[in-house]
Amino acid sequence: MEKPPLSFFVMSFIMLFVVTSFILVVFDLHRFAFVFELTMLLIFIFIVALGMFAVYHNKKWGWTILGLALMLVMFNTFFVYFLAREFDTAHLTIIVFSAIGIILALFNLRETFQRSETTEQYEKVKDYHPFIDKMEPQAAEPEEHMKKTFTPGKYVASKKANKFHSPKCDWAKRIGKENQLWFDSREEAEAQGLEADACV
Ligand SMILES: [Zn+2]
Repeated sequence: MEKPPLSFFVMSFIMLFVVTSFILVVFDLHRFAFVFELTMLLIFIFIVALGMFAVYHNKKWGWTILGLALMLVMFNTFFVYFLAREFDTAHLTIIVFSAIGIILALFNLRETFQRSETTEQYEKVKDYHPFIDKMEPQAAEPEEHMKKTFTPGKYVASKKANKFHSPKCDWAKRIGKENQLWFDSREEAEAQGLEADACV
């Protein structure tokens, strides 16, 4: 398993600030608003715990949950403002840290998306493999053809020299195609008045 990403720890701090501020905001409320927002706080903490657990285990949907939870908290903070007509540091902290958290979540989702795109491309290449395998025998054919054309005998000599060589000899390889003389046997070459090189 991969180590949890750095953004996991950054997100932990963001959530710490958001939850603490949320608690401060909730306990400033009265009666119905307090009960309603306390419920919202508990739901939020549960969702954050779930999301952080998923992110810790490198699950992509963890970032989706955290991002959506933060968006919900941002809207809720504006809702609380209209309910209580109060706006202090705690409200501001929630909004600022939620915004940072949403950006972080989106950044991580984008990164994961790009990574899966690369994987998709790799899968595509893998799919082409059977096709490449089919091509290989065709590619091998010209090589065989070349052997037939350029190795018609066992020995080769240059029209300009009086020695014959094995085709593997370095000297043999230097003989230009137009000057090559091929022989099937030693005797055939010697009959032309040629001497065997050390390579033969
Ligand atoms: Zn030779």
